[in-house]
Amino acid sequence: MKCVFPDCNTSVQIGLPLCSVHLKTHYQVEIRSSSIVPNELGLFACRVFLPHEFIVPYQGEILTESELSVRYDENDTAPYAINTPMGIIDGALWRGIASMVNHSNCGNCVTVALTENVWVTAVSQIADGEEISFNYFGATSDNLYEFVPGIHSTY
Ligand SMILES: [Zn+2]
Repeated sequence: MKCVFPDCNTSVQIGLPLCSVHLKTHYQVEIRSSSIVPNELGLFACRVFLPHEFIVPYQGEILTESELSVRYDENDTAPYAINTPMGIIDGALWRGIASMVNHSNCGNCVTVALTENVWVTAVSQIADGEEISFNYFGATSDNLYEFVPGIHSTY
């Protein structure tokens, strides 16, 4: 897939929908070697993010429970699937930027579901250069009123 930034034709493998240059200029994040064992890569802040700021959108295919159960054996977990009001978003095949965010028990983010999209959102202050992470088990906030959008994006 090509980077969706206007006039950018760079091919993107991971971190969709933007290339590494535009991830940095648009979302102020970058993909590099993870600081969390045993992950290879992770997503890092390129500036300070304040609590409640939106960082990157969580994107992927929207599936029903039954579609998800066909895709994953009942003994398997669906590592990139999250429950949202729109359905289940599975980011596994669509390697969107939020799928680069690693699990941590004491993550600095949660996912927040809005009407039409889901954002990885800071819950504590994130330092410039700090790895972005959330707890994969119970990281979704249902209380939207706690969160104030920091970035409005068309991507
Ligand atoms: Zn680009």
